[in-house]
Parts: sequence; structure tokens; C-alpha cells
Amino acid sequence: MKQIQIEFYDRISFQNKITGIRRKYYGKNVVFQVFYDQNRLEDAVVVTEVLREYYPGARFFGSSSNANIKDGAISKRSVEIVCCIFESHEVDIEILHYKFNEETKYEVCEDFIRKVAERPWIKAIEMLLTLRNMSSTYFCEKLSEIRKGIKIFGGCAFSENLQRSNVSVFSDKLGFTDEGAVFMLIGGPDIHFWTTFISGWKPLGKKMVITKAEGNHLYELDGEPAYNVYYRYLKIANDQTFIRNALEFPLFYNLNDVNVLRVPALCLEDDTLIMTADMISGGTVQLSYGDPQTILKSIIKEAEKLADFVPEGIFIFNCASRRHFWGDEEVNQETMPFESLADTTGFFTAGEFHRSGNMLHQHTATLIIVGIREGEPGESRKDELLMRHNYNNDHVSMVRRLANFIDVAYSELDETNKKLESANQQLTKLAMLDELTGLFNRREINHRISSQIEKGSPFSLVMLDLDLFKAVNDDFGHETGDVVLKGFAEIMQSNTVEFGENAVAGRWGGEEFMLLLTDSNGDQAFELAEKIRNEYEAEDFGIEFVHTVSCGVTSFIVGENIDNICTRVDHALYHSKNSGRNRTTVL
Ligand code: GH3
Ligand code: MG
Ligand code: MG
Repeated sequence: MKQIQIEFYDRISFQNKITGIRRKYYGKNVVFQVFYDQNRLEDAVVVTEVLREYYPGARFFGSSSNANIKDGAISKRSVEIVCCIFESHEVDIEILHYKFNEETKYEVCEDFIRKVAERPWIKAIEMLLTLRNMSSTYFCEKLSEIRKGIKIFGGCAFSENLQRSNVSVFSDKLGFTDEGAVFMLIGGPDIHFWTTFISGWKPLGKKMVITKAEGNHLYELDGEPAYNVYYRYLKIANDQTFIRNALEFPLFYNLNDVNVLRVPALCLEDDTLIMTADMISGGTVQLSYGDPQTILKSIIKEAEKLADFVPEGIFIFNCASRRHFWGDEEVNQETMPFESLADTTGFFTAGEFHRSGNMLHQHTATLIIVGIREGEPGESRKDELLMRHNYNNDHVSMVRRLANFIDVAYSELDETNKKLESANQQLTKLAMLDELTGLFNRREINHRISSQIEKGSPFSLVMLDLDLFKAVNDDFGHETGDVVLKGFAEIMQSNTVEFGENAVAGRWGGEEFMLLLTDSNGDQAFELAEKIRNEYEAEDFGIEFVHTVSCGVTSFIVGENIDNICTRVDHALYHSKNSGRNRTTVL
């Protein structure tokens, strides 16, 4: 495979170039990619006219761009034409071009997916998409269904204002469309692709939950207006400087386990952020920062991997926001390393596509790198890459050190918070429990009875008082008395299990206990009391004493207060006491 990169100057010189290429390569397996500056549509039109006239049957496609990449660096010319010539006629290439709008995008996706399924030879798909009047979310979701193993990459046609019609994708099939998508399907027995995405931006500080988002409107993070994050932590004002400043701190967004970046494209007066791509409620984000040295290191790391693949041609889809971040001179640092591996071309996009695993994602602020090779790998150029672009010194930048400081400080704070939280939970729990028996204490039982009354829903109470308990203490000592109290509590506890949340056992005081039974009638409460009474009587404590209990049962009458029902259950209990103990009275 071979790439010829041509910059457009004027019609005549381009005609001459194309005539030269035709003489040399006509009849070969050739495809042209064309990228034009968003403001120079007229130049792109000339390019397509010349291609049609001077290279009959030429396959070409392309899109509007923010700037073009030639020989690994930003090009000063308005149009960049890349002619890919494949050695083998067995390399299959097909260009599909769709015009669509918000309504017809469903049919387009269906048709495209069907066509891909019918073409088993496809190994990779390049997609160029206009984002005009639509988001790419639906496309990304649908195209993720495409058969496993097919690599997908590409970019969004650029325009400063994506709603304007100067944004377009085009091809030899349909000409220029301002709402559409162009796909290049490519495959064959001996063509190989290697792709990756690189941001180099690093997450910073705490994770925040997206509490409100819709499409590309990010309303709230952690329940607060989204913009607050930019003001509180970074003091970035919501004025005309917002985008430029926020660009250096995009949001690091975890989507299907892949970290993608989202750049704010606008901040509304009500502090809503308009992002460059959709975000979904429930996801988490962190601020991120771009540190030139860290970014370049990430780039070399990926370039080293690409060197092992030994590409013959490299395509880069680089986000326009990165050009803004670096400036025109510096931005070449991120693309030049690839030029030492193979001819490197591409363009600056309004959004980048990359398939990771099965999922196709739209990235922003990201570089997509595509290496192409026909046949077996030749000799690796890794040594040359590392000789020319070695950023692997040990120096750690100040920004990186401060970011590390913030991360560690946060995780320490997080630890402390977790400890405090669990201590608090324990304290709350302790405050509800009786120390001796572990049952709920009187305060908690009272509280629960009150909330039942407030709800007005039916419930029953069982009050239990151990018979002649004073004698246990007198005969065997207070400690033995405590053991019996605990034993009785266990009997109560084990008998409430089957009621789940509907039965609550508490110690009312001394040797008096209370059961609260919700969602049940007096009969069930009576049965439960009887079961406990019998079990206590049958229990073997290893000492000789009267172990019986007297119980009172009553049910809530709508309209009464807590004193009314407690007095009634107390009366029921004393009726049992007065009628000879060891029995249950229902009142
Ligand atoms: P009755 O059948 O009429 O209820 O007789 P009783 O002896 O159980 O009633 P009384 O109210 O006279 O005595 C209750 C006894 O319970 C008095 C006290 O020593 C004992 N008691 C109360 N709280 C505790 C405790 O926490 N531990 C121990 N060991 N005994 C307690
Ligand atoms: Mg008593
Ligand atoms: Mg008693």
C-alpha cells in the first residue's frame, strides 16, 4: 500500500497532479480521500470536479475539517487529497453514502447494518458523519451490533457551528450532503488494520455522578448545576472565555467501561453545560487535566505499539479542540511521531469515532490512530521513532506532581469519611438498642408505634412481663437474672424471624417486653404470644425457678393515640397477672 498526499493550490496544478497519477496508476486499486477547510467548500467542489473529469471512475469521499494533516503535520492549505494505492486487487473497497435526517436515520442504520452483514470480506469501516441537527448516540449504539472483529473508526465533519450547512460529507456517489454519512468499507485476505484512541488527559479529584442530563445537555452533577464544578474548583467564569478555559479541563466520562472525554461547547445562563456529545444520567465523571508532557508520553507509548504492527500508512482523526489546546506549532508534536513510522495523514474533527471491543464510541478531545498494512510486516521503525521522539525521561512535571497531590489527598479524605460514616452508623444503631438483650429499646419501640399510628395502618401489640421474676434475683443473684432475661429475649427474637420486617421485638424496661406486629390482626399476635409463652415455660435454664410469662394483646383502633393503645395492652397484661399468671389476655 502506498499513499500520495496532495495539497490543493488551484485547479490547473491539481489537474496536472491527477493526470500524472492516472498515467502511473490507472487500472490499479485506488481510492481518494479528501478533507477541506470548512470555509473552503468551493475548493473542495473543484477537487471533486477534477477527479471526475481527469480520473474517470475515481472512487473518492471526504468531509469538511477544521484543518488537515499532511506528512504528520498540520497543513496550511485548504484541501488535502490522499490517494491510497493498494498493491493487490484482492483488496475490496466500497463507499456507501447516505443522506438522512433525524427521522430517516433509523432506516439508514438498518440498511447499513444489513449491507455490512452481506459483505463477509469487510475488515474495517471508516465513517465520516455530519452532526448537523442530530447526535451520534443512535449511530454508535446501532453500529456496535456490527459483527465482531470489524474495526470502526472515523470522525465528524467539522464546522464552527455544526448547525450551519457548510458542514458536509461527500463522495463520488452522492456529491455533497450537509446531513449524512459516508462509509468506506475495506477488506480483503491480506490487508490489516491497527487502531487505538489516545487522549493523554488524566482524571483529577473526586468522582461526580451525573444526576441530570438529556442528550448533550448536562444539567446537574451531584445534584448541583453542572457549571458549578468549573467555578468551584477552577474559578472558570461563565463568560465568553468559558470554552477556551474549560477546554483544558474536559470531563473524564466512563461509558461502558471505556473512558471517553467530553468537552463543554457552551455554558448557558442557567449554568447548564452543552457538551460536544451526549451524556447519560447515572454515569460518573471527573474533571481531567491536560499536561503536555503526560500527553506526549501517552502518544509515544501508543506509537511504540503501532511500530510493532509496522504500518504502511497512518490515518489520524484528531479533535479540533486539541489544536486549540496546543496551538498550531505545538500540535504537530502529537502527530509527528507517527510520521517516523509511515506516511501520516488525516484531519481535525468535530468528534472522533472508535470501536473498543464491540462498542462504538464517539469521543471528543481525542486522537484516533489507524495503521494500515498490506501483506506481512516489514522491518519495524521503532528505533527511529524512539531516537527522534524520546520523552521517556524521568522528569515529572509540576502539574503532574500537583495532580498527584490532589488525588492522594482526596483518597485520604475518602478513607476518613468512610470511617466516620461507619462509626456514625454504629452509633445510630447503638442508640436504638437495649444494652443487655440487644432488642430494640423502649425509645425505638415507641418511635415505631408512633409512626404506625401516623400511617393509620393496622397493627397489634403484645406486652410480656416475666412472672415472679424478683424471686430469680433473690434466689440466684442478679447475674443469673440477667442470663434469664437474655434467654427470654432470644426466644422472642427467634419467633419474630418468620414475620420479617413485620415483627419488631423490644425491651420495655426491667422484665417487661413489647412486640409490635404490623400488617397482621389480633389473632396472629395472640398466636405469637402463646408460642413465646410456651417456649419460655419449656426452656431448660439448668436451675429451678418459675419460668412463666404473662402476656397482653391488643390491636390498633383508628383514631386513638399511643397512650390509649399502650394503656389497653397494659390492662390486658394485668388481667393475665390477676387471673393467675402464665396466660395471654386479648383486649
Ligand atoms: P410479677 O409476676 O407480678 O410480675 O412479679 P415480679 O417479681 O416479676 O414483679 P416485680 O415488678 O415485683 O419485680 C420485677 C423484678 O425484675 C425486680 C427486679 O429485681 C427485676 N429486674 C428488673 N430489671 C432487671 C435487670 O435488668 N436484671 C435483673 N437481673 N433483674 C431485673
Ligand atoms: Mg414487672
Ligand atoms: Mg414480673
